[in-house]
Amino acid sequence: MSKGYSGLFSGTFGQIKMLGEDVLERIMPNGEKKIDFSNPPGSKGIEVPRRLTDSQMEFLTQEYGIEFAQVYELGTGKGGRGGRYMIYSGNVNSVSIPVTSKTILINHTHPGGTPYPSDKDLKLMEFLTQMGSPQKTSGIVPVGKKTVKFTKKGLK
Ligand SMILES: [Zn+2]
Repeated sequence: MSKGYSGLFSGTFGQIKMLGEDVLERIMPNGEKKIDFSNPPGSKGIEVPRRLTDSQMEFLTQEYGIEFAQVYELGTGKGGRGGRYMIYSGNVNSVSIPVTSKTILINHTHPGGTPYPSDKDLKLMEFLTQMGSPQKTSGIVPVGKKTVKFTKKGLK
């Protein structure tokens, strides 16, 4: 997907700071900081320097109109410390993430604002458990609504 960036540098979206080759930070006119990308990362994913807030996840979803997922990839330290935060993007109603024993799906977004998990979301949680992930609960960030939590059984 190609994005026009002409607006970015004209001040409409505030200042831009590159954090990595494809990761950037926008400092909005109100001072708020939003993580953004040169292009949505797709199923390959991209590492971000810190965990994104719900409002940052919602911002990405609104900007691109597609689902985003935030994953913590467990590290080798105690309790999985030393891992990394990865962001994946999909299309308007789905997003793919790697499913391994080291995957924790922190949250994913629903561009249409649906405040509950889909059947696929529940199956994914079940699948993560089967793979040996310690994950129990995940979040959904529905655009325009409050974040909800769910387990493989449904809304928490
Ligand atoms: Zn979902």
